[in-house]
Amino acid sequence: MSDTATFPRIALIGLGLIGSSLARAVMTLNLAKELVVSDADPAVRKRAAEIPLGHRVAATSADAVKDADLVIVCVPVGACGVVAEAIAPHLKAGAVVSDVGSVKTAVLRDMQAHLPNTVHFIPAHPVAGTEHSGPDAGFAELFTNKWTILTPPTGADPAAVSKLGAFWTALGANVEVMSAEHHDLVLAVTSHLPHLIAYTIVGTADEFADVTRSEVLKFSAGGFRDFTRIAASDPTMWRDVFLNNKDAVLEMLGAFQEDLSKLTRAIRRGDGEALFDHFTRTRAIRRGIVNIGQDSASPDFGRPHPHLPAKDKT
Ligand code: NAP
Repeated sequence: MSDTATFPRIALIGLGLIGSSLARAVMTLNLAKELVVSDADPAVRKRAAEIPLGHRVAATSADAVKDADLVIVCVPVGACGVVAEAIAPHLKAGAVVSDVGSVKTAVLRDMQAHLPNTVHFIPAHPVAGTEHSGPDAGFAELFTNKWTILTPPTGADPAAVSKLGAFWTALGANVEVMSAEHHDLVLAVTSHLPHLIAYTIVGTADEFADVTRSEVLKFSAGGFRDFTRIAASDPTMWRDVFLNNKDAVLEMLGAFQEDLSKLTRAIRRGDGEALFDHFTRTRAIRRGIVNIGQDSASPDFGRPHPHLPAKDKT
């Protein structure tokens, strides 16, 4: 175990993309004396033992959390309450209990209802992911240089918050602390709404598929391809996100529909100035994102050109 390890015994419940990435990172960085992992799905537990994703695979979440100093629940948002109920009687006094859910207010409510006040409950959300799911989709570097947001409830122990923050920092993440409500509003616009738009646009294109199937595929580099990637994200996870962040998503969706109406009107009226002004403003936003290092300015970042030799990385 490395000197920087803040939690000697760690338990992870749920071994999909996020749980298995955490497991790989904890093992690779030698962050725990003992890492115990578990999942509701026997096939996933079998795979976790084969990979292996921890020092021990427990048959139940209740068994996994015994003696753990840190428990991280990595299941879909809608299942967090059920897991909290199952593990509550088995948690060690003084343990830090956390999660990785993409929605925070509902998770805070659902888990806190079951957890004893002898543990420190500090919800968290690593803002990192891919469209893939399952124990084979994870990788140890997933959280490197990405943000992890901690949303401690009122009255949370500052020492427990900073210990959890130190754990995420050790994984390579940048850590920010905010309220669960603020998190849900911010993520509604930066993540949840873009996913909803991607799910919509890919569905809309599919309605025209009989007529245009070849064109949809052939010209998919023109923006559509990126939407199809986002729209391939896990249906269970995203169903739970929208059901559990309803108010914030509906608020942002209302604002989005108003803006869409303005652009629709500008197109209908042939108002080139309105379109140009809007696109100029959004281009400046994109440049701001690149300037603060949240993305690369390279066109089509990360995708090798099929007809050009790979760039020399030295
Ligand atoms: P995932 O790949 O679908 O894996 C979730 C795993 O949890 C599955 O193996 C699932 O088993 C298991 N599970 C479900 N209910 C359970 C229960 N009651 N007890 C134990 N295990 C249970 O999901 P993921 O993408 O890792 O997402 C996990 C969490 O991370 C979600 O809350 C999500 O909002 C959050 N998150 C995801 C991303 C992302 O990009 N994917 C990014 C940031 C945060 P079954 O398949 O049998 O249900």
